[in-house]
Amino acid sequence: MIVGEQKPIAEIKKIVGTARKLLILGCGTCVKTCFAGGEDEVATLASALRLAFKKDGKEIEIEEFTVERQCEDEFIAESASAIARNDTVLSLACGAGVQAVARRFFRTPVLPGVNTMFIGVLERQGVFTEECSGCGNCELAIFGGVCPITRCSKKLLNGPCGGSIQGICEVNPEIECAWQLIIQRLTALGQLDNLRIYIPPKNWSSSNAGGPRKLIREDHFI
Ligand code: SF4
Ligand code: SF4
Repeated sequence: MIVGEQKPIAEIKKIVGTARKLLILGCGTCVKTCFAGGEDEVATLASALRLAFKKDGKEIEIEEFTVERQCEDEFIAESASAIARNDTVLSLACGAGVQAVARRFFRTPVLPGVNTMFIGVLERQGVFTEECSGCGNCELAIFGGVCPITRCSKKLLNGPCGGSIQGICEVNPEIECAWQLIIQRLTALGQLDNLRIYIPPKNWSSSNAGGPRKLIREDHFI
């Protein structure tokens, strides 16, 4: 899932600036799962903003609406009437959702209420970890299903740096050494010989470093 966190309320207040009729638009998929922008977060933020603006003596109407996914036109369309009733939209989706709504409603300011952070997993309740950098050329098969590009602080592809202490990364003591995890997993899979494979320097042209990417599936064209 895409993981993000809601911006601080002081920043949101600043962003919405001169809005008089504000729609807070939630997204019911990734950002709901990471408690940044689902229906509950929309309601909580709306209450907090109403209170904060009331204290400031600013008159503002705040409407709440949540769609299943802000990155798909089919769902965005459901918010059309709510958007038409307001002069500004504060989107609680990821950056892709914000842009998808802004593209469709070209004359309405669509502002981000969430800081989009990474592609990750729910490690345990309330803890999300980054697992994939979307490099466009997945090599997890060689690494026993642990991504060194994302999870090794030095992005090493041909083995550990040797600096880990008791399985903890020498660069970031808050994470496990990715290479320790790779070796443990390859051992469990009986695939330790994978370590003999030389991995050439990563070709980043398939990643975002080569500019924005596009996936075209002609078999799904109508
Ligand atoms: S190898 Fe690339 S696509 Fe695969 S998990 Fe790592 S960053 Fe993501
Ligand atoms: S300690 Fe492990 S995760 Fe950290 S930089 Fe070295 S090899 Fe990578």
